[in-house]
Amino acid sequence: MVLSERQLPLTGLEHTRPTQRDRVLTQLRDGPTCGTEFSEMHIPRYGGRILELRQAGFNITNESCWKHQHYSRQTIYRLRS
Ligand SMILES: [Zn+2]
Repeated sequence: MVLSERQLPLTGLEHTRPTQRDRVLTQLRDGPTCGTEFSEMHIPRYGGRILELRQAGFNITNESCWKHQHYSRQTIYRLRS
C-alpha cells in the first residue's frame, strides 16, 4: 500500500516514490515513450526513474523522438527485452 506515502507533505515535489518508477516501467512495457509523454504523465523526473530501472537490470535505450514533432530534440526511451 502507498497510502501512507501519499500522505507525506512533500508528495507534490518529491518523486522518489516507487510508484513513479512502476509507472515508468509500465509505460515502457507498453511501448517506446518520449520525455514529453512522461512529463504529461506528471513524472517530471523520469530520467532519474529510468536510471534506477537501468541499475535494476532493465535494458532501456535512448533514441531521438520519432513519435512527435518537437521544437527541440526529445529523447524517446525503449525497453529492450
Ligand atoms: Zn516525443
